[in-house]
Amino acid sequence: MNPDLPDAESVPGFATRAVRVGHHRTPEGEHAEPVFTTSSFVFGSAAEAAARFSGEQAGNIYSRFTNPTVRAFEERLASLEGGASCVATASGMAAILAVCMGLLKAGDHIVSSRSIFGSTTMLFNKYLTRFGIATSYVPLSDAAAWAAAIRPQTRLLFCETPSNPLTEMVDLRALAQLAGAHGCLLAVDNCFCTPALQRPLELGADLVIHSATKYLDGQGRCIGGAVVGDRKLVGEEVFGVLRTAGPTMSPFNAWVFLKGLETLELRMQAHSRAAADLACWLSEQSAVERVYYPGLPNHPQHHLVGVQQQGGGGIVAFDVRGGRTGAWQVIDATRMLSITANLGDVKTTITHPATTTHGRLSPEERAAAGIGEGLVRVAVGLESSADIRADLARGLALVEDEYSHRT
Ligand SMILES: *Cc1c(COP(=O)(O)O)cnc(C)c1O
Repeated sequence: MNPDLPDAESVPGFATRAVRVGHHRTPEGEHAEPVFTTSSFVFGSAAEAAARFSGEQAGNIYSRFTNPTVRAFEERLASLEGGASCVATASGMAAILAVCMGLLKAGDHIVSSRSIFGSTTMLFNKYLTRFGIATSYVPLSDAAAWAAAIRPQTRLLFCETPSNPLTEMVDLRALAQLAGAHGCLLAVDNCFCTPALQRPLELGADLVIHSATKYLDGQGRCIGGAVVGDRKLVGEEVFGVLRTAGPTMSPFNAWVFLKGLETLELRMQAHSRAAADLACWLSEQSAVERVYYPGLPNHPQHHLVGVQQQGGGGIVAFDVRGGRTGAWQVIDATRMLSITANLGDVKTTITHPATTTHGRLSPEERAAAGIGEGLVRVAVGLESSADIRADLARGLALVEDEYSHRT
């Protein structure tokens, strides 16, 4: 445990660890975490250099593989996710790549939820196949489909929960049991919930993956990622890829994420509250056909809220009447919301998935994934709820107007 923690005997609370873990104060006595912008580290003697390189002596060598600021972020995130080891990466995609390179080999097979980040699908289909690794896709919440897709060569189960943009969920405890029964690893991309709302390792997952770019930063400033898990899988295998291949996190970005973690729990609670309010309000609008939000009682996996994830999260999706025309009308009528595909920011963002994040899918693939032309995704930020509602109400009124004239 960290020397700055009040009582190293008992495990301190989540909020305490988010603020205190990972900073090992230097002789300067600095209060805030310092940024070590140095590419390499010096040794006292040739013998010490040799001992560091051979691994006999712990300590810094070169910032591609160890840097005190990056280390501080890794320790803090590991503590929040409840894992023994964390490795920070240059981006969320670099984290997924490092997991695949570190833990898979030619001939291995992945079973993945089909509702995953677009670039992850691309990585699996276009690049991993070149190295002899195949992937099968299943509907996220279909337990029978997961079981049926496992082959003797299956080594990894991969999912995001809740999914983007429809906020579908999977029972992580059940999926972890399935993975264990077949000798597979379960990796969960925990980007949408963060450890403030959901801790997959406690539910039996082997690996947690993050795009730190989203809620860990929380203010849309930096690109980064991380993998959390045990010492063998993450501390040795995944770390080995980073050390050798080099998709490392920069110390400055690590510092931004480190400070982001300090307010993570407060922000996630506030994002969840605001998203729940917005989801309820949207459900009452006649221009809205359907709302997707885990916190709504009519959500198909609503029973998992409060059990595996503590809150609904900050993402709300909804179908607008009139298909693409209606959706674009709502988006284009906003004056405050940011039209951008990013999420996890204090600024509310709005997207049309069918023509942006999911635009590369064929119409059939989009239909199978349930992403309609009228679907709009909002990543609810921390502005006043009334202002977010007012910004959406303008476009919804236009759509409603059109329909009332037609009928
Ligand atoms: C953004 C995102 C990623 C990729 O992260 P980058 O930091 O952009 O590389 C992976 N998974 C999910 C769920 C994401 O939202």
